[in-house]
Amino acid sequence: MAGVSTHITATRRLEGKVALITGGASGIGKATAKLFAQHGARVVIADIQDELGHALCNEIGGSSICSYVHCDVTDESAIKHAIDTTIGSNGKLDIMVNNAGIVGSPEIKIIESDKANFEKVLSVNVTGCYLGTKHAARVMIPARCGSIISMASVASVDPCATPVAYTCSKHAILGIMRSAAIELGQFGIRVNCVSPYALGTPLSAKAFGMSEEEVDNVMEEHAVLRGVRLKADDVAEAVMYLASDESRYISGLNLLVDGAFSVANLSHGFFKYAQ
Ligand code: NAD
Repeated sequence: MAGVSTHITATRRLEGKVALITGGASGIGKATAKLFAQHGARVVIADIQDELGHALCNEIGGSSICSYVHCDVTDESAIKHAIDTTIGSNGKLDIMVNNAGIVGSPEIKIIESDKANFEKVLSVNVTGCYLGTKHAARVMIPARCGSIISMASVASVDPCATPVAYTCSKHAILGIMRSAAIELGQFGIRVNCVSPYALGTPLSAKAFGMSEEEVDNVMEEHAVLRGVRLKADDVAEAVMYLASDESRYISGLNLLVDGAFSVANLSHGFFKYAQ
């Protein structure tokens, strides 16, 4: 196995690797797909937004570098198909990014929340992560290596001002990650989460009823870390670190990309948005 210094000095940090990114057609997943490709990975985007997915593949550089597969992450046969397609066209799967997610309806208070919405959010965010982890493990175990990264949120450790279904789903993603990290370690497979603070993407714009720029403005106002605005590219860099061999001994980690927001535990101040 090459030494750590070799990995760190490499400029293309994912050279030769194959990655599957769910929810890769937009926002954080899109930024991750672009960064992975820049660093030498072949990327498969799995999403339900077919037009955006195909357009992104063309932008990234065509089918030898990036391909698209329609995949609703709540459907086990669709996840299985996406992973088998990745293996069929690339021969292996090194990196699985369970990134697809929704916020659901915006009611923050549990007494105003709706059971059908609760189940829908859990279906995409939790079942999707579970299925992605399960089927990635299925093909990574025989290879005796792999990195599985699931997109949680600062809401995985701090209820912030997110709806109960979303908060619950992001806590549950940590549970899947921790169980899988222990179970799959024996096969050399690493399993981690990335947990960003809020940033402007189509998901947050819809959830807050604002433009992406307005979301960024509000989030900057409540941030602990000043002088820098969290962008999708910053989250993608954290995902790439966990995907690359630079993190080869890191497993079972929830990597917070929140500028110390959760450390400061500002929930009470932030909760005015729930009133
Ligand atoms: P986004 O809406 O830009 O991207 C999410 C993608 O997931 C979309 O392309 C969407 O089509 C896809 N998707 C939704 N349901 C799907 C399904 N059933 N099957 C397959 N794909 C599906 O949002 P984003 O902000 O980039 O979110 C990406 C991840 O980051 C989510 O898990 C989200 O919870 C998490 N996150 C976002 C923020 C934020 O403030 N934007 C903060 C913390 C965590």
